[in-house]
Amino acid sequence: MHYKNCTTRLAARSGAEDVESCGMQGSLVGRGVMIAEQWARISEELRAEIGEHNHRSWIEPLDCGILQQGVVQFTAPSRFVGDWVKRNYHDQIIQRLRASDPSIARIEFNVLHTPRPTARSKAQTPEPQRDTGLQGAPLDGKFNFDNFVVGKPNELAHAAARRVAEGGEVTFNPLFLYGGVGLGKTHLMHAIAWALHQNRPDLQVLYLSAEQFMYRFVQALRDRQIMDFKNLFRSVDVLMVDDVQFIAGKDSTQEEFFHTFNALVDQNKQIIISADRAPGEIKALEDRISSRMQWGLVVDLHPTDYELRLGILQSKAALFAETYGSVQIGDGVMEFLAHRITTNVRVLEGALQRLFAFSSLIGQEISMDMVQDCLSDILRSSERRVTVEEIQRKVAEHFNIRLSDLLGPKRTRIIARPRQIAMYLAKELTSRSLPEIGRRFGGRDHTTILHGVRKVEEMRAQDSQLAEDIDLLRRLLQS
Ligand code: ADP
Ligand code: MG
Repeated sequence: MHYKNCTTRLAARSGAEDVESCGMQGSLVGRGVMIAEQWARISEELRAEIGEHNHRSWIEPLDCGILQQGVVQFTAPSRFVGDWVKRNYHDQIIQRLRASDPSIARIEFNVLHTPRPTARSKAQTPEPQRDTGLQGAPLDGKFNFDNFVVGKPNELAHAAARRVAEGGEVTFNPLFLYGGVGLGKTHLMHAIAWALHQNRPDLQVLYLSAEQFMYRFVQALRDRQIMDFKNLFRSVDVLMVDDVQFIAGKDSTQEEFFHTFNALVDQNKQIIISADRAPGEIKALEDRISSRMQWGLVVDLHPTDYELRLGILQSKAALFAETYGSVQIGDGVMEFLAHRITTNVRVLEGALQRLFAFSSLIGQEISMDMVQDCLSDILRSSERRVTVEEIQRKVAEHFNIRLSDLLGPKRTRIIARPRQIAMYLAKELTSRSLPEIGRRFGGRDHTTILHGVRKVEEMRAQDSQLAEDIDLLRRLLQS
C-alpha cells in the first residue's frame, strides 16, 4: 500500500515507472519500484535522530532509487559517502525501511557517475579551457613563478609547488602550504595555477579561497542545488583552496569541504591547500580533517630573512619600474627597508611602491630622506618590536631552564643551546647590534653572539625540531 505514495515527478525521473501502476504491488516488484516518498519521510526521521549537521552531510546527498527484488538501491555522490553511510547509518536506515516494507532485505550504495567535464567543455568550445559552471577566483598575472624569489625560508615550499605545477603523477596529496601573513602563500598558489594552465591545459584547475568555497556552499544550500554543487566540485582535476583556516569552526562548510576533499583524493585528483598555520594548530578545525590534511606533504613558508627580503625588493623594483618608469634608488635604501620591515612582504612591497610613486611624481631619486618622510607610519609601526629581555624570558620558559642560567656562564648543552637560540632570536627580531645584545647576555663579547647566531642558523637547516621550536618562539614573541 505504501506504493500509492509514488509521485509523478519521481516516476518521470526514473523513466521506467508508471504512476498508475503504483497500487499494483505485485506487478511492480520485478521491475523496481520508486520508494522516494518513504525515503523522504525516513530521511526526515533520521534528521531528528542524527542531527541537522550529519543529515546534511551524509543523508541528503543520497538519492534513493528503486526497490528491486528486496534490494533498495541508493545513489551516493562518491564512494566515500556511500561507504560512510553504510558504516555509520546502515542499521538505522534498514530498520526504518523494513518497518514500512518487511520484504526489504538489503540496501546498496552505488556511486553517481558524472560525465567528465573537461571532455564536455572541449566539445562545446574551441579553447581547451574551463567551462563547467565553476568559476574560480581570478588569478593575479604577476603571481607567477618567474616573479617568486626563492630563498632559504621558502625553498621547500617553492620546490613542492613547482613539483605539483608540473601536473605529473599525483605523489603527495594534499600539498598543504602554510605560513604567516604576507609570506607568499597566495603568490605560490597562483603560480601553480598559471603553470598548470600552461603545462596541462587539459586539466580542470579550480582555485578559490576557503571563504568563496563557503559562500558557494551556502548559496547552494539556499537554492537547493547542493547536488550540483557537489558534482561540480567533484569534477575538477586540481582543487586549490586558499586560507583554509577560514572554515574552521564553520561546521557544515567544514564538513562539506571534507567530503569534497575525500571524494577528490579518492579519485586521485590533486588538492592544494594553504593556511596561516599548520593543520594541527588550526583551532576549531575538526581533528579528522586536520589529520587527513597531513596525509600529504605539509610545508611551511618560514618568516623571511634579510637576504630574501632584499631579493624580493629587487624583484619588485623591476616590476614597479614597468609601471612608474625607471627610478633612481639611493645607496642603502633597499638594505634599510629589508632590515627594518621584517614581518610581512606585503608591507615591504607596499613601502617600495609608495616610494616609486612618490619618486616618479616629483622626479627625484629615492633617498634615505624620502624614505623617512614617506614611510614614517610604516617605520613607526614596525618599531613595536620585541625586546631582548622578552626573548630571554620566553626562551627560558620554553626550554624549562632558569633565566639566570640562560644569562650565566654554564656551558652544558642543555643551557647553551637555548642560550644560542635566544641570541639568534634577539638578532632576528630586534634592531639591537651584536655588542648591545652581548651586553644583555651577561656582558658577552659580540663575537660570542655572532658565533651563537651562526650556529643556530646552521643547525636549524638540519634539525627540524629545532626549526620548529624557533618558529614557535618567534610566533609567540610576535603575536
Ligand atoms: P600570503 O598569501 O602568504 O598572505 P601573498 O602571497 O599574498 O601572501 O604575498 C604578499 C605579497 O608579497 C605579494 O605581493 C607577493 O607577491 C609578495 N611576495 C611574498 N613572497 C614573495 C617572494 N618570495 N617573491 C616575490 N614576492 C613575494
Ligand atoms: Mg593569501
